[in-house]
Amino acid sequence: MTNPAATFQHVSLPPILPPRVSRHVAVIGAGAAGLVAARELRREGHNVVVFEQGDQVGGTWVYTPKIESDPLGLDPRRTVVQSSLYQSLRTNLPREVMGFRDYPFVPKKDYKDRDSRRFPGHREVLMYLKDFTREFRIGELVRFETEVEFVGMVDGGRWNVRSKKRGEVGLDEIYDAVVVCNGHYTEPRIADVPGINKWPGEQIHSHNYRTAEPFVDKVVVLIGSAASANDISREIAGVAKEVHIASRSPVGDGTVKKQPGYDNLWLHSMIKSVHEDGSVVFQDGNILFADVILHCTGYHYHFPFLETNGIVTVDDNRVGPLYKHVFPPALAPWLSFMGIPWKVVPFPLFEFQSKWIAGLLSDRISLPSVEDMLEDVKAFYSGLESSGFPKRYTHNMGDYQFEYDDWLAAQCGRPGTEEWRKQMYSEAWKNKRVHPENYRDEWEDDHLVLQAYDDFNKILL
Ligand code: FAD
Repeated sequence: MTNPAATFQHVSLPPILPPRVSRHVAVIGAGAAGLVAARELRREGHNVVVFEQGDQVGGTWVYTPKIESDPLGLDPRRTVVQSSLYQSLRTNLPREVMGFRDYPFVPKKDYKDRDSRRFPGHREVLMYLKDFTREFRIGELVRFETEVEFVGMVDGGRWNVRSKKRGEVGLDEIYDAVVVCNGHYTEPRIADVPGINKWPGEQIHSHNYRTAEPFVDKVVVLIGSAASANDISREIAGVAKEVHIASRSPVGDGTVKKQPGYDNLWLHSMIKSVHEDGSVVFQDGNILFADVILHCTGYHYHFPFLETNGIVTVDDNRVGPLYKHVFPPALAPWLSFMGIPWKVVPFPLFEFQSKWIAGLLSDRISLPSVEDMLEDVKAFYSGLESSGFPKRYTHNMGDYQFEYDDWLAAQCGRPGTEEWRKQMYSEAWKNKRVHPENYRDEWEDDHLVLQAYDDFNKILL
């Protein structure tokens, strides 16, 4: 298959100039993306306001035991819970890889309440983001408990941002630019299963999974094969009667596979159909009766506040058109989206994206013409199509994320991704594939950890 990153290779680098202008910029969201965006924008001399609907920074990493009234997360009238974390969640990346490049995610061994493991629990990530916020004094830029309800264009290419602080009336303000950092793991996507509307069992999306307790003694069919499906299926197998994973990924000769180390965990092909009598029929011909279907099937991009008069759309989970997954060409650089790519190392990618956005807004870096950006997006889409990727994979960057990061770094005149980080990422994924049970506690890449700390020490000393 053609590498869809091919379009990154032919763009000549723009000149790097000193910052020229300061803009009034609204950042929507104070998760990891919004926090680093705020830091980079301020570093560049912009005047920044961060809107955060919650009462603290951290976004996804603010764990809550609360779940939504609709366990599938489909009812538009439900009260939305932002975080999709489950109680037992530990990171799926080693902390050295995961952290921001210039604020390494190193263990805080001197503090009793911190988790110094290499793949720490979710609370440690939240603490790290809070440390980051304190270190760079980002809190003073954030308006907490303030939801952005509307973002729309006004004359002169600027933006009206309507926000509402809890208990107060709405406020309309004008900004030069808006950076959208609202997170992409809150609107559940459900598998399209024939017969599902009449299937009598319980259904839940992993967005609303917190602990295995509700699954005691149940027969559970779990759809999906990504990181959370892997964790959740194993956790539930500890208490459920049976757990059956339905996965799009091929399962060898098509027969059902019992998972090593478990008596009650099986891997199947995808579901073919489900029926009113409670049965679940798999494509491999197996049939079983289940109590629960658990959808670990990902999320939709969702920008309920954004009005661009049809310039930006979300179609089959493609947000487009976006130049390099960030700028709608016709509105660049005044509207930007952070964190759209998936199958990536998110924090460093956010860091690269925000340096690029900040530099462009101050006219220190320049973009190609609107026509050239649109041409680039078109070429990217046709590359995907001719390689057989469905539209919903537009922002899947598994194979070329570091090429993308390095392209962004080059735009900003910065060094690209460290070699150890690339290698460590690939080692961690290999280890996870081979040892899904214990990849977080046993590894063989200590030599890369040493290289990482050589780099960190230059920053930390
Ligand atoms: P979020 O963290 O979701 O932040 C978005 C923020 O925007 C929220 O605070 C929200 O309240 C706010 N917001 C949204 N809409 C509005 C509005 N209208 N007005 C005002 N505020 C608004 N990444 C890793 O690096 N390692 C991992 O191990 C890892 N594990 C993960 C496990 C799970 C189950 C999930 C779901 C994700 C995981 N991730 C992991 C990815 C994680 O999502 C990213 O690391 C990152 O935290 C996303 O940051 P974000 O800022 O884009 O979004």
